Amino acid sequence: MPTSQNGWSAGTVAQIGGLNTSYVPGTKVKLPQGVRKGDVATVLHYVAGQFHKTVEPLHAGWCWGYAYRKIEGSSSLSNHASGTAIDLNAPKHPMGARGTFSTAKVAAIRRILAYCEGVVRWGGDYSGRKDEMHFEIVKNAAAVAKLAKKIKAAGSPVTPAPAGTMCKGKLRPVLRRGSTGEHVRFLQAMIGAKVDGDFGPATEARVRWYQKLRRIGVDGIAGPQVWREINKM
Ligand SMILES: [Zn+2]
Repeated sequence: MPTSQNGWSAGTVAQIGGLNTSYVPGTKVKLPQGVRKGDVATVLHYVAGQFHKTVEPLHAGWCWGYAYRKIEGSSSLSNHASGTAIDLNAPKHPMGARGTFSTAKVAAIRRILAYCEGVVRWGGDYSGRKDEMHFEIVKNAAAVAKLAKKIKAAGSPVTPAPAGTMCKGKLRPVLRRGSTGEHVRFLQAMIGAKVDGDFGPATEARVRWYQKLRRIGVDGIAGPQVWREINKM
């Protein structure tokens, strides 16, 4: 069976194990074609539900899910073809457009992504052509299952962990080149770096970019000043 760009099997509805076409939790909106049944649906419904609650209301008819098609301008199958991608309020956030969300809305999106711990990627973070309406699964079934379990355990509707300088009652540590782990994943999600839990050159470059953006000292190290800025988002 072919796979979509993220490695998930793609094909007809039957081939991918069926679609979940229920309402996005907490809304009267459906992703009309649905999304892949099971843990993927739990995760993408979580993203869509939190988007509705914390970013902007979802509009019926403007949100899309499964579609068997190629990525525009490419021969790879779109992640929509495996039922692992969604588009939210598409006409307001057209493909290729940048800055269709306010700073506050981007911060709310980053909180959702941080909660998802790198399992979900936002098209606004693509390095090439932006696709700000688009959210997709970028991890395998085991990682998706783990996140779905966390979402279910927290009950619905779930509030994402707040951005902040504190984590579990402790100040977040200073992170620099070579740092790894959970705090790095949180940092990467909040500043729009690739979430892999490994503070390498790309993360460092992104921290510098963020420091310039927030007009604080630029040294590529995430210390108290960076955490304070993230706390304001
Ligand atoms: Zn899309």
